[in-house]
Amino acid sequence: MTKLTEHFTLEEFTRSTTADRLKIDNRVPDNLMANVQLTAIKLELVRKALGKPIIITSGYRCPALNAKVGGVATSAHTKGLAVDFKSSFGTPKEICQQLVDAGVQFDKLIQEHNQWVHIGFSPTHNRQIVLTAAKQGGKTVYLSGLK
Ligand SMILES: [Zn+2]
Repeated sequence: MTKLTEHFTLEEFTRSTTADRLKIDNRVPDNLMANVQLTAIKLELVRKALGKPIIITSGYRCPALNAKVGGVATSAHTKGLAVDFKSSFGTPKEICQQLVDAGVQFDKLIQEHNQWVHIGFSPTHNRQIVLTAAKQGGKTVYLSGLK
């Protein structure tokens, strides 16, 4: 195991059942390691704001894996700057609300389908964008704020 910060390992960022199944090499390239390290540092602040562990369900995605899971090509996951996660703190909406209330910095925070939370960071400028992903007519739409 490669430890990034006190509570997060590199393996938590790269593991993917889809990558395993399709034999996709989802290791983080050297040029993106600084981003993953930054994300781990930011996630420590998320964990602190929640007072509970967080479980990363999807972290870094190489372009091949990202395409397989239906991510947009420009996804922050492909840069090592975003994770999807859950926490025993509460529902995705409760988690998002707590992070906003606690003043945690992020570029983008998305309450995804009442199932998980997406959080993305920027190395330079965090925009504090809050969205809710929901299905409308079979298509995913992104609504402003927490719904
Ligand atoms: Zn995501």
